[in-house]
Amino acid sequence: MTNTESVPGAAKKTTARKTAPQKSDPAVIEVRNPGTGAVVGTVPNESAEAVAAKIRELRLYQTEWEAIGPDGRKEWLLKLQDWIIDNTEHLADVLQAEAGKPRVDALIDPAFSTDLIGYYARRAGKFLADDHPSPHSPLARVKKLTTVYKPYPVVGVITPWNFPLAMPVIDVIPALAAGAAVILKPSEVTPLSAIELARGWAEIGAPPVFAVVTGAGATGAAVVENADYIQFTGSTATGRKIAAACVERLIPYSLELGGKDPAIVLADADLDRAAHGIAFGGMFNSGQVCISVERVYVEAPVYDEFVAKLTDAVKNLRQGLDGRESKYDVGALANENQVQIVQRHVDEAIAAGAKVTTGGKRTGVGTLFEPTVLVDVDHTMSCITEETFGPTLPVIKVADEAEAVRLANDSIYGLSASVWTGDKERGERVARALEAGAVNINDVFVNLFSFALPMGGWGQSGVGARWGGPNGVRKYCRQKAITTPILPTQQKELLWFPYQMPKVLFGLGAMRAAGARGLRRIDIAAILKLKGDNK
Ligand code: ADP
Repeated sequence: MTNTESVPGAAKKTTARKTAPQKSDPAVIEVRNPGTGAVVGTVPNESAEAVAAKIRELRLYQTEWEAIGPDGRKEWLLKLQDWIIDNTEHLADVLQAEAGKPRVDALIDPAFSTDLIGYYARRAGKFLADDHPSPHSPLARVKKLTTVYKPYPVVGVITPWNFPLAMPVIDVIPALAAGAAVILKPSEVTPLSAIELARGWAEIGAPPVFAVVTGAGATGAAVVENADYIQFTGSTATGRKIAAACVERLIPYSLELGGKDPAIVLADADLDRAAHGIAFGGMFNSGQVCISVERVYVEAPVYDEFVAKLTDAVKNLRQGLDGRESKYDVGALANENQVQIVQRHVDEAIAAGAKVTTGGKRTGVGTLFEPTVLVDVDHTMSCITEETFGPTLPVIKVADEAEAVRLANDSIYGLSASVWTGDKERGERVARALEAGAVNINDVFVNLFSFALPMGGWGQSGVGARWGGPNGVRKYCRQKAITTPILPTQQKELLWFPYQMPKVLFGLGAMRAAGARGLRRIDIAAILKLKGDNK
């Protein structure tokens, strides 16, 4: 992709003017292909007032959206799914244009979106149905208990640039399925795919309960100022600011933040599978995945063999700027800033004694950085302590499983992890010991394709979680408790005014009998008192 016209649809929808906007022009943001540097679109840098106005409008339509219920919403969501399937090639073009991805990576976003929409469209009805929990004690059986899930009117979704279509879909769809209206603020670096998603929503004729606003941090901050719930994915630094703003407004939020995912290779692992899996886990999307493998710990007996296999697997990756023909495995980094971070981590590691077994520098084309394996790494280096979000795999030799777990847990992050072993029990033991929101045994990324599981970060990797079956839509709802009498009601309950000690003691005694254990169930003093009073 070299110019705006080569992104069918995107140019039409996003080019606000014919002449190139000036850098000083705050009204427009240029979107560039990071591989070629070419401008592939422009989007408005929307003001706080524009955001507030869009959210006001969404509120007007949300009531009706909620009222049509999960079955009504399912129809629209499945129409959007059809639209994504029918427009897959075009969406992949847009993704490649704005993110410099290989063709295969660009095709993953629409396929993933299709899968996720199907799940939430079809299951939301079940997930949102009223619950009738069994009462906690026999005393409560006199009431029917109901939990009702009522959506927040407007959910704000703020997304980063690594998966310009899948990241919005991942949270927009469950929120829409819950019955909320959604305002999406995509990354200013890659807003074109999100605009395509909104175009699809409009083209299928769906109710106007989904809107995109474009702009940088200030536009995102305006979303936080006006929406009723914030779902954010991005850096820990920005997540912290958003959390503070949400606390100020007393609105709920869920944050998926940075990660530094460890992979543990135990001596009994299938080393070929581990090497290929970790090469994929570290280099997919040029390492720009929140759950990329960013650190590798290998048990000493297999360290040399594993490093040789990993180096081979990484060396063999084909890197370049792909077209539709799919020639490459690894593409560009999203922007120059990312290249600088990756280069710094590699340079600092080398300066402190690490060695590169393959890669180590930019290729000379755009923002492409060679897939890199680092060895002789120690735990103080920035390539281990900071999130890299690039194509590097630092490898550390460990004495045993215990050391691997200790070092893997020695991080401020805890998003996900993997463990590679031939022993299922060992795999589970390590998985349970790791301080992370998800662990894949003998695999990578699987949890990202498992909507029935929760996806959330521990430590500074996040607050809350997305998905997790029913919780994926319930999180976008306020919960309401309703109690309904089952038995005919009396004029007054035992504990109502005016207090009458015998009745009160009887009531409190019943609570105690229901909750306590053994002889403590019986309040002998109260019984004696009641007897005494009756004399
Ligand atoms: P990165 O681009 O490294 O992921 P961020 O975490 O800052 O960096 O960006 C993620 C998303 O958050 C982007 O859409 C960005 O525009 C948005 N954003 C940045 N600052 C703020 C802010 N203060 N409030 C709300 N959104 C913000």
